[in-house]
Amino acid sequence: MLAESHFYFNKAADVLGLPEKVRTILLTPYRSVKVDIAIEGTDGELHSYEGYRVQHNTARGPMKGGLRFHPEMDEDHAGALANLMTWKTAVVDVPFGGAKGGINCDPHELSKKDLHAITTVFVERMKDVIGPTTDIPAPDVNTNAEIMGWIMHEYSKYAGFSPAIVTGKPLDLFGSEGRAAATGRGVMDVLASALEEKGKGFSDVTVAVQGFGNVGSNAALLIAERGAKIVAVADHTGGVANEDGLNVTDLAEWVAKHRGVKGFPGGDAFDGSEVITWDVDVLVPAALENAIPEGNANDIKASIIVEGANAPTTPEADKTLVDRGVLIVPDILANAGGVTVSYFEWAQNIQQFRWDEERVNLELDKKMKLAYQAVRETADEYNIDLRTAAFVLAIRRVGRAALSRVHIETELPF
Ligand code: NAD
Repeated sequence: MLAESHFYFNKAADVLGLPEKVRTILLTPYRSVKVDIAIEGTDGELHSYEGYRVQHNTARGPMKGGLRFHPEMDEDHAGALANLMTWKTAVVDVPFGGAKGGINCDPHELSKKDLHAITTVFVERMKDVIGPTTDIPAPDVNTNAEIMGWIMHEYSKYAGFSPAIVTGKPLDLFGSEGRAAATGRGVMDVLASALEEKGKGFSDVTVAVQGFGNVGSNAALLIAERGAKIVAVADHTGGVANEDGLNVTDLAEWVAKHRGVKGFPGGDAFDGSEVITWDVDVLVPAALENAIPEGNANDIKASIIVEGANAPTTPEADKTLVDRGVLIVPDILANAGGVTVSYFEWAQNIQQFRWDEERVNLELDKKMKLAYQAVRETADEYNIDLRTAAFVLAIRRVGRAALSRVHIETELPF
């Protein structure tokens, strides 16, 4: 996975003619930490897990990135996703660098008590390398506001009252209005910009969404609210389709109760893997990486793909799709709404001041639109696709900051 994130970086670095020395500086992670987590489970047995945090780049500010609790989490995953965070924070121009981490556990198989115990040990082992001005975690796959609340509480035991240690916290515990829906809202914002440039509106398009967790469900709700038809949704339990448009509010209620879309009575069931090639105008992959491999790139019918998930498209599939003229709004732009409102939450925590939801949403919409515009302008300037343009924009911002901090015998070509 790390190789893939380096692939896009190098493609953009080639466009810029970036010297080898600077490539090495920008790609080398700042720090990588692994911790062992052993707990006595509610079943009375000893269970051990591994926790990771890769801190990639600190040139533009404290490092920032999610925590993923997933059996496949490892150093390679954390490193690749940390790397993406460095470019993502730069694309939306928030004052952070990139980090990512997590634990190789499956929360679906754990009792709440065990999940809490694992999280607590993770914080105890990581407390010296994270902090409100060094590295600020946030939710990612299988982590949520409740877990962020536990992290804040645990970290504050060591460092004193520290609400700014994590973002995505519960509203009652120094969280921000609008954070829960922020990534989905950002997906909706960039889709609005993409449609506008194609001379279309939301009511002109049909949409398929893969993944109905935090990102997928909020994106679907907001996109449907603006008049688009969400005709197919899939998650790890299966798929559900309705060509007249699914009632996304009802679907969200169903998923909250049944932990998956399977069995939803408001549509027809289908094999979830087919969602990627559904006959729609817009595809929103919002589950896990590599959802769009080369194998199905030619069968994709959508003319716009908005990457709610991180790294859903493999480099080979990306090339096929770009050659076919599909407009891909890349992950480091499309799902940057979450880190943007995380920045608002962190700023509110530091100032001990609260914004209302209207202000958060307004500022988020503005940031996402500006970021889309900046990426589009870069794409037009170099005659490149949006993904390469997003990396070019980010490399320019991070590169300038990195080389302003130290003396290196080299010239930046921009
Ligand atoms: P989540 O845990 O809330 O939801 C994940 C969803 O993916 C669930 O609906 C799950 O059923 C589905 N899924 C898992 N395996 C699947 C499969 N094989 N086929 C179809 N669906 C499957 O996670 P999330 O926070 O919504 O994150 C989703 C993606 O968005 C990840 O790539 C994450 O890194 C990225 N992301 C999340 C945020 C955020 O703020 N939460 C921000 C930026 C990027």
